[in-house]
Amino acid sequence: MKLSLVVPCFNEAGNIPLFYKAVKKDFEGVDFDYEIVFVNDGSKDGTLRELKKLLEGDIPVKIVNFSRNFGKESAMYAGLENSEGDYVTIIDADLQQRPSIALEMVRTLDSRQEYDCVAAYQQERSENKAVIFLKDMFYKIINKFADTEFRQGASDFRTFRRPMVEAILEMKEYFRFSKGLFSWVGFNTLFIPYKAADRASGESKWSMLKLFAYAFEGIFAFTTAPLRISTCAGALSIVGALIYLIVELIRHYGFKYPFGNSTSAIFWMFIIAGVQLICLGLVGEYLARIYVQTKGRPIYIAKEILKNDKYRG
Ligand code: UDP
Ligand code: MG
Repeated sequence: MKLSLVVPCFNEAGNIPLFYKAVKKDFEGVDFDYEIVFVNDGSKDGTLRELKKLLEGDIPVKIVNFSRNFGKESAMYAGLENSEGDYVTIIDADLQQRPSIALEMVRTLDSRQEYDCVAAYQQERSENKAVIFLKDMFYKIINKFADTEFRQGASDFRTFRRPMVEAILEMKEYFRFSKGLFSWVGFNTLFIPYKAADRASGESKWSMLKLFAYAFEGIFAFTTAPLRISTCAGALSIVGALIYLIVELIRHYGFKYPFGNSTSAIFWMFIIAGVQLICLGLVGEYLARIYVQTKGRPIYIAKEILKNDKYRG
């Protein structure tokens, strides 16, 4: 049996040596082979330099070095694609997800043949209340509209059996929302709770804006409900306009009120124009995705793939 650890890295120079040390310590004396597949996602700090140092070590290490920052989703895809193990674990480089838990996942998967995947989810979350509230909202909305089930608090920290990895790799879509893809491919997933540790070094790459963008990525990738919202909004605006017209007519002919002045006409014109623009924007969202996908761009471009001599022979 062989395990691959897939590690997306973006500006993690401070964490790489610590991560490597932690893996070495936690995996000491295990009765299976393992490799570490690092994906350097266009880091601007010394990440690549730190990674190259690891090629000297005695653990099989691969470095997929991106030509620029493609994002964690692409990095995970590249890592899976370049992994060789019968089991594959996706784990962050910042030690928030302990390698010891990864080992536990592998052991669990090895003893429970009925499962294809073990996924960690955060039971307690240390984020601030507003972020937790927004994330809860997101899961409520997406679970209502999408056919795929999204597990609240589930992370990308998972261990898969090879067939599930192959299934995920079959999904070559450009706009990736892995939490959805992991669930979409099916298979049996066992969820285990874990508590994320603090970052060993550096800062999280997620800003509020990025989280919002990510949430929308999930919604647009897995449901077409927003397209229906625009239809509903359009219908409502027409019904509203008709009611308004009827009220005006009754007021004028029934009760002899003069017709409203042009202010109200302008007001309505803008409302309707606004609705139209929003609808157009929504259609544009999907159109943009179709456009990019039909161009058949690769999900990532690796400048080079490095291996240490543990692979030769
Ligand atoms: N990451 C990446 N590309 C990016 C952003 C992040 O490969 O564009 C990696 C990052 O190096 C880390 C993991 O994804 O190993 C999770 O990122 P981060 O710790 O910033 O997210 P958080 O733990 O705050 O959710
Ligand atoms: Mg982190």
